[in-house]
Amino acid sequence: MTRADRYDRFFRAELDALKEAGNYRFFADLERRRGQFPAALNRHAGGERPITVWCSNDYLGMGQHPAVLTAMHAALDAMGAGAGGTRNISGTTHAHVELEAELAALHGKEAALVFTSGYVANWASLGTLAARLPGCVVLSDAGNHASMIEGMRHSRAERVIWKHNDLKDLEAKLQAIPEDRPRIVAFESVYSMDGDIAPIAAICDLAERYGALTYLDEVHAVGLYGPHGAGIAERDGVMHRLDVIQGTLGKAYGVVGGYIAGSAALVDFVRSFASGFIFTTALPPAVAAGACAAVRHLKASGTERAAQKARVAEVRARLDALGIPHLRNDSHIIPVMVGDPVKCRWLSDRLMERHGIYIQPINYPTVPKGTERLRITPSPVHSAADIDRLVSALAELWEQCHLARRPMAAQ
Ligand SMILES: *Cc1c(COP(=O)(O)O)cnc(C)c1O
Repeated sequence: MTRADRYDRFFRAELDALKEAGNYRFFADLERRRGQFPAALNRHAGGERPITVWCSNDYLGMGQHPAVLTAMHAALDAMGAGAGGTRNISGTTHAHVELEAELAALHGKEAALVFTSGYVANWASLGTLAARLPGCVVLSDAGNHASMIEGMRHSRAERVIWKHNDLKDLEAKLQAIPEDRPRIVAFESVYSMDGDIAPIAAICDLAERYGALTYLDEVHAVGLYGPHGAGIAERDGVMHRLDVIQGTLGKAYGVVGGYIAGSAALVDFVRSFASGFIFTTALPPAVAAGACAAVRHLKASGTERAAQKARVAEVRARLDALGIPHLRNDSHIIPVMVGDPVKCRWLSDRLMERHGIYIQPINYPTVPKGTERLRITPSPVHSAADIDRLVSALAELWEQCHLARRPMAAQ
């Protein structure tokens, strides 16, 4: 056996264990067609097939919006492909400067800072704040995303986990921290797997009472909520009470990248001390320009948000009529509860093969065992015919894998 083979043997054994546990991830090979999304092409071993995507985080179809594409084409033609360096070394183009000004204004903050992804924004910002505030304690919601968790871990600051969206538990944990220690309350607005929403104002009340900084991940809300698409904090009228609002440019804004918005001093601090910001090449200017166009468009237009709401309500009503169980929440995320990893994978495979419908199964460890689900995200670009096909396919397959229906009365 060669040297490389010996290492590969280890990698394969680990992967086999993952497969045995049902946690191995398969990627669907998709090709989105401009102007036709949610229609896409799926290439598979036996050939290719046209499909409809029902699980995209391009929640409003901005990834193909003419305003975004025009801005990207123009910037590409004007400025070329890459930024050419880190922000410090010739990578700060005018497109970055404009985007940051737009994001700061969107959230009503003095400043904003753009990162290469939302993951990096969380990891670098939370990591830097927690590491550099002397004696800092981070109070982290139990449902927080991996990017925040990794940032907190990397900071080596003390981390206290409070029960998901539980104000009593948060208060008890804030109370237990010695008064002189700096603290950050880190949480999300819309939680992506259950689609539930944090009580932001009440969390801000506690943070103020106990002297904590507030750090809010609005990744699944920016573009989607509030009169200008600034998120749940805007919808609730509490943006000014948050110290850091973090978001992505890759989901509802349809491009890629992440950011934080906050006070000039806080943002300058992260800019100056965060390794994950300093030592990596800036986003391509065309990406920054496209994201900026998406932010501007959704700031001015509520059409996409209204259409999305209508589609979400329609899908929910149709599922209810069929007794297909889904989690109740106040967001745009519809978790159809299967409760069995094998059936969840089976449903997803059959939807794709027989019906040309792509919904990724969500199994453990992404969600707790027994709560396996299909996570459906209706968007303004799904038509009435798309919805018809989705619900009739689900109804047929639901029957075939002997899953329980929920009586109307129990809903
Ligand atoms: C997707 C996600 C991120 C990361 O954002 P990207 O721009 O995709 O890197 C951060 N937080 C939450 C809650 C997410 O779901």
